[in-house]
Amino acid sequence: MKETVLKGFEKVFHTTDGVKCYFAPGRVNLIGEHTDYNGGHVFPCALTIGTYAAVKERDDMKVRFYSMNFENAGVIEADLKKDIEPSNEWKWAAYPLGIVWTFEKRGKKLPHGFDMVIAGNIPNGSGLSSSASLEVLTGYMLNDIYGFDFTNEDLALIGQYSENNFNGMNCGIMDQFASAMGKKDNAIFLDTATLNFEYAPIKLDGAKIVVTNSLVKHSLVTSAYNDRRKESTEALEALKKVIDIKTLGDLNEEEFEAHKDAIRDEIARKRGKHAVYENRRTIKAVEALKNNDLKTFGELMNASHVSLRDDYETSCPECDVLAETAWTVPGVIGSRITGGGFGGCTVSIVKDEAIDNFKETLTKVYSEKVGKTPEFYVVEIGDGPYKL
Ligand code: ADP
Ligand code: MG
Repeated sequence: MKETVLKGFEKVFHTTDGVKCYFAPGRVNLIGEHTDYNGGHVFPCALTIGTYAAVKERDDMKVRFYSMNFENAGVIEADLKKDIEPSNEWKWAAYPLGIVWTFEKRGKKLPHGFDMVIAGNIPNGSGLSSSASLEVLTGYMLNDIYGFDFTNEDLALIGQYSENNFNGMNCGIMDQFASAMGKKDNAIFLDTATLNFEYAPIKLDGAKIVVTNSLVKHSLVTSAYNDRRKESTEALEALKKVIDIKTLGDLNEEEFEAHKDAIRDEIARKRGKHAVYENRRTIKAVEALKNNDLKTFGELMNASHVSLRDDYETSCPECDVLAETAWTVPGVIGSRITGGGFGGCTVSIVKDEAIDNFKETLTKVYSEKVGKTPEFYVVEIGDGPYKL
């Protein structure tokens, strides 16, 4: 991919002199979905696939962006001398530009501009966080080129701030944290209320993580996501009147059941239930993994899917077909929708000897029921961002 992005740079900007290359990973979340803005735990891991950049400094104050994945958008240009504001006119470049904007808000003004070509080998808009990988990539690159000293954890927070305030997506911290803090062969058990985290080695003896892309992306994902956020806040506010908590992540299942009637609105009650139970499932899943109890881990993944399908309602019929079919395949340890939802991917843990049958069965059932052929990626857990 380094060669690819360098070639792209040469084609678009006609040189490779002084060009520097960078990578930041996408991520898959094993369990703990929609808990990151509810003060709960998440358990994602960075992947070896992600987004690559080739970057060259400029003498003037222009920044120019080109994506090999969005060639039709052409070269997108901004002028650092003018105030950069959130706008649709930036198209995909709103992601890297939002990072420049956030750096400036934090007192890191760029002394001069740059040209940047990017190429990703992660599917966009599929729940594997191509957006966070692009944000972390940009922050890591700016740090390196201009000699700023943000830590990788800072870069995660900058990415989230930018996505919230420049892109209008009220995401939690999980995606950026997983990309910025990734560690080969480890998942990250992160408490999103405190940002305390621990690495958990993923040793899936004789099994692999398989991501299945439904190849559907429903419209209005951002507004539906922001609605979920509002509904869970409504649940929290109602509960706060009867119990002393700061976030939904403070509650266990019994406490929730004892106080749930304080949430009058039925929808908000379901959202609150998911946030509480999913957080507890995540804690239990990490415990199970420590005890080498993959069976329990898988059952918790399946329960997570059911909760996302029925209570949080961020699954979709297509991903339900993928997960529910996966549950019937011998050798599948667990399977669930992953990421923000409303389309995108499922994540499954599948025994090595069962992978062929898994792919065949899902392909057959999915083509019959949905009329599409799903894509499969047997993924590996990789490191956070680095210079190439
Ligand atoms: P996800 O993060 O799950 O992949 P999002 O909808 O949050 O999905 O982010 C996808 C968006 O991120 C794309 O529509 C595009 O604007 C931007 N993006 C991600 N990767 C690239 C890339 N390689 N080139 C240009 N834009 C990208
Ligand atoms: Mg995203």
